[in-house]
Amino acid sequence: MTRKNKPFVYLDHSATTPVDPRVADAVHQAMIKGWGNPSSKYSKGSDAKLLLDKARQEVAGLINADPQEIFFTSGGTEADNLAVIGVMEQARKDGRGTHLITTSFEHSAILKAADHLEENGFTVTRLALNADGFITPDVLKAAITSDTVLVSIMHVNNEIGTIQPIRELAAICHESGILFHTDAVQSYGKVPIDVKMMNLDMVSMSSHKIYGPKGVGALYVKSGVPFASRQFGGGQESGVRTGTENMPGIVGFGAASAICAEEISSENQKMSILRNKLLTLIREGVDGEVLVNGSLENRLGANLNLRFPDVEGESLMLALDLDGIACSTGSACSSGSTKPSHVLSSIGLSGPDAHSSLRFTLGRTNDEKQIRYAAERIIHHVNKLRAMLF
Ligand SMILES: *Cc1c(COP(=O)(O)O)cnc(C)c1O
Repeated sequence: MTRKNKPFVYLDHSATTPVDPRVADAVHQAMIKGWGNPSSKYSKGSDAKLLLDKARQEVAGLINADPQEIFFTSGGTEADNLAVIGVMEQARKDGRGTHLITTSFEHSAILKAADHLEENGFTVTRLALNADGFITPDVLKAAITSDTVLVSIMHVNNEIGTIQPIRELAAICHESGILFHTDAVQSYGKVPIDVKMMNLDMVSMSSHKIYGPKGVGALYVKSGVPFASRQFGGGQESGVRTGTENMPGIVGFGAASAICAEEISSENQKMSILRNKLLTLIREGVDGEVLVNGSLENRLGANLNLRFPDVEGESLMLALDLDGIACSTGSACSSGSTKPSHVLSSIGLSGPDAHSSLRFTLGRTNDEKQIRYAAERIIHHVNKLRAMLF
């Protein structure tokens, strides 16, 4: 294969996704035609307001929320921060409690918000996972105290793809009058979410994980949830997240959500067929052990997190990059540091185990031909790296 027609196979869709061309079109239109301020009362403003309302409906529709319960933010990180800090601070002000329960394998947007709360006098419990990568209802029940205000547990994990039983976990919280938030950045648009049927109080979402633009996301807040905003200004987004709206981003997020609404029922299935193909091919071709991190049951169809004992993950990732294959070691946010992934540690992997692991996350850009090519290169490099040991 010559360098000129080197293939590019993107297997890191959990880090970010390319913008869907249909979404890019909508963003372009919003920039050149819908540039008015949606708060202005003349027609240029109301035109923008129509675009904003449409996007809000598209996001709400994908999780069966009411549009007025959707608040646009600058992304998943802000939605997560806003959810846990907004609810905890209001609860302390109202004298309803100061205890937050979360888990040890959340995204850093939740973990660091929890650290911040702890530094400011709140108490935080971080639940442990079982080796398969799940929070069991008993573990949650045991952590609840009379001071507990909020439980925040992610829906789909960004590294190992396990899907938590959030409907059941939310029900346990509601029995004790506790609010339930889920970071659904990795599940929104991929796994069905129904906030009414699942009885969720808050849900974080992000656009760039679903083929939309970066720097935009949303927080769903069920109406009536006592909530303190963290930003002060002109009162946009009902004051929950004030500031003139990021119109191109929001319109793109809406368009990306509408596309997911069409494709959600078939896409997860399609991804798991490709993912299973990749795993089967790798297992057939690699000499020696290949292990899957986390359970393959109740897992996002697109996620494969593999461990190749005696292979340094970083070397394998860089060798694959030269072949035009993009994947990641641990989560993208922690790459560049040599610390083992906190998610892999949380399911009991040692440092060396974590360092011999790679994450492959599939998406709309992949087809079977690419998967065959990726498998062939992975097998080649793993066998070569292992042969160098002896
Ligand atoms: C990507 C991600 C976030 C952060 O979202 P941004 O829009 O990048 O700020 C939060 N939680 C999870 C699970 C994620 O995968």
